[in-house]
Amino acid sequence: MANGANIDRDTSVVTTGQRSPDEPQLAAQWARVRGRLQSEVGDVEYRTWLRQMSLGGLDGDELTVRLPTRFLRDWVRTHYGDRLNALWQAENRRVRRVDIRVGGITEGEGLAEPMTIAEPAPPEPPPLPIGQPATERTDGRAETAAALDPRFTFDSFVVGKPNEFAHACARRVAEKPASVGFNPLFLYGGVGLGKTHLMHAIAWELTRNGDASRGGAPVSVAYMSAEKFMYRFIAAIRSQSTMEFKEHLRSVDVLMIDDLQFLIGKDATQEEFFHTFNALVDAGKQIVVSADKSPSDLSGLEERVRTRLGCGMVADLHATTFELRVSILEAKSARAGVPVLPKVLEFLAHKITSNVRELEGALNRLIAHANLFGRAITLESTQEVLHDILKAHDRRVTIEEIQRRVSEHWNIRLTDMSSARRARNVARPRQVAMYLAKQLTSRSLPEIGRKFGNRDHTTVMHAVQRVGELMERDASFAEDVELLRRMLES
Ligand code: ADP
Ligand code: MG
Repeated sequence: MANGANIDRDTSVVTTGQRSPDEPQLAAQWARVRGRLQSEVGDVEYRTWLRQMSLGGLDGDELTVRLPTRFLRDWVRTHYGDRLNALWQAENRRVRRVDIRVGGITEGEGLAEPMTIAEPAPPEPPPLPIGQPATERTDGRAETAAALDPRFTFDSFVVGKPNEFAHACARRVAEKPASVGFNPLFLYGGVGLGKTHLMHAIAWELTRNGDASRGGAPVSVAYMSAEKFMYRFIAAIRSQSTMEFKEHLRSVDVLMIDDLQFLIGKDATQEEFFHTFNALVDAGKQIVVSADKSPSDLSGLEERVRTRLGCGMVADLHATTFELRVSILEAKSARAGVPVLPKVLEFLAHKITSNVRELEGALNRLIAHANLFGRAITLESTQEVLHDILKAHDRRVTIEEIQRRVSEHWNIRLTDMSSARRARNVARPRQVAMYLAKQLTSRSLPEIGRKFGNRDHTTVMHAVQRVGELMERDASFAEDVELLRRMLES
């Protein structure tokens, strides 16, 4: 319920350099957000990563938080972005989004970002316990166990077309680590498609059951993100314990490094990773790596590293399909013990297509709401509760999005939207995408042509006509196109 005073305060706009009567209020809220964050993450982590945050301002419903370097910004975004968002939303109803940017509080908008340092050292690594035996410092087992999410198991992973291959490879490695052809296992795909989930699942399986192919012999697993790897490496250099660091890593049976793309541009860390990698592979140990791109597309990573990464099994996680999204939602709501109507699940699967993480977030919010108010989830309450999330997904349709949805629908590669291939199974979807681009965006024919591999505007015109004709002749084709249009428009 909104009262007058709140509306006033909430709609106020505070920007840098412009004094607003509400600035003190915002400052007080900011102090509380920081305080909460600090008590949640602890002093060391706070001092290391978050101390240098400053408040940019509130513009409409978007709040800006600034950090002095790009490195810190990226770190805070990935590690604390969600928390900052949630804390701010709890503090100020006006805030719908927290934008984390580079810059100080006194700098104006649009200021050029400072250059990235090739190997940015974490500002203040947490002090390593002094005087403790080396084995404790590098107790990888405990560290790995602590880093693993208990929810990310094979049991809870929903398999569908887009991820079945990656899943099968992960299973295989979990059953028989270091088998020929599967080492290294390189998992790649966009954000929120299940890379980390699969990696944790492998690690859980191996730490719990050991190596099934050798009668359950114990397997030591080290799992860490590439950031953590770098961080530990730098900390080891600082505390002059690089030998222990190296020895520890080379002593494991399975080394898993998540989000390897983080090592791009971090030459010294990359070098260290490369040596560790080689030592382990030569010793017949298993490596599992994830990244947001395939080895060959990870430009910026050293050639020799890329080559070695690509010489085992490379498996990608494709963008989710509607069917997979529905299955995931079904599985998650069943697991939560909360029945959700199929039409609600389908509605969500239609609306939230970006990635599984967002889908999950939306479902969790619905379930929390239903539990809180003891009411069943309906389509109406869904729209109400998820109002902001749905709005964010309602933005105008882009040609890229049309291409993505259409290729998803017919299961072809996104790159074929702009490739020269003329096979019917590729050319037809491409024509449909052109048709939809013409119908749903305000782009001109030449502009559309350019987005489809620099094709001529007459090609686009022909596609539009052809699809129109086909729709008249073929009812099921027309239904497909209509479905796509509704999905894109909704
Ligand atoms: P990535 O590492 O690729 O960015 P994550 O593995 O962190 O993505 O997945 C994001 C969220 O989505 C996690 O909560 C994960 O459990 C969930 N998720 C992704 N894919 C699936 C799936 N196929 N089945 C169940 N949950 C999934
Ligand atoms: Mg991940």
